[in-house]
Amino acid sequence: KKITIAIDGFSSTGKSTLAKQLATKLGYVYVDTGAMYRAVTYYMMQNGWVTDNALDKEAIVNALPNVKLHFQFNAELGFAEMYLNGVCVEQEIRTLEVSRFVSKIAEISEVRAKLVEQQQEMGKEKAIVMDGRDIGTVVFPDAELKLFMTASAETRAKRRFDELVEKGQHVTFAEVLQNVQERDYIDTNREDSPLVKASSAIEIDNSSMSKTEQFELVLQMVQD
Ligand code: C5P
Repeated sequence: KKITIAIDGFSSTGKSTLAKQLATKLGYVYVDTGAMYRAVTYYMMQNGWVTDNALDKEAIVNALPNVKLHFQFNAELGFAEMYLNGVCVEQEIRTLEVSRFVSKIAEISEVRAKLVEQQQEMGKEKAIVMDGRDIGTVVFPDAELKLFMTASAETRAKRRFDELVEKGQHVTFAEVLQNVQERDYIDTNREDSPLVKASSAIEIDNSSMSKTEQFELVLQMVQD
């Protein structure tokens, strides 16, 4: 039986790692909705509409029809990469700079409405694992399995820091921790679709769980 799996939670809680493992094992499609918000942010940054001091909401909303997003499966990597107007932006959207602005862009209702619609379209066939902040609450309220992932802010910042360093980015642990905390704050306090655990979601705190332990635990839930 093909189901919809919705994975939500705070930043860097290992949602995408788990989602990728599940998709590979079950032969499901994995959709990283954070990548979509990141790609929109990257587009707006390139146009100068989001900077440290300002956010030109009107320009951003007006430009939305020009932002075309799609995922393309990369067999070598084993997951789908994010494309913005036909160009792969998988590297560009993973920088700390994009992370610093993405939650501000994700607060804009028009941005959310556009992305949620596209996400719901992708989920029509089921057999999908989608991760984000509002998947179990807004995108797929009827998902058969909903997970809500948590871990301490320090654990999460350490993971994100290691990832960025591995990619050769020059960042400090302090700025990564600050970014993780800032995004959590904005994500949980925004007016439109704030990050909240869906009532039927199963909470998983993986602060002291290995990736394998977590995967086994969730796989059991899918099979039950
Ligand atoms: O998952 P990731 O950390 O890449 O997401 C980046 C940001 O995009 C989040 O901090 C959040 O502000 C936004 N986001 C969202 N809703 C989603 C997925 C991501 O608001 N479904």
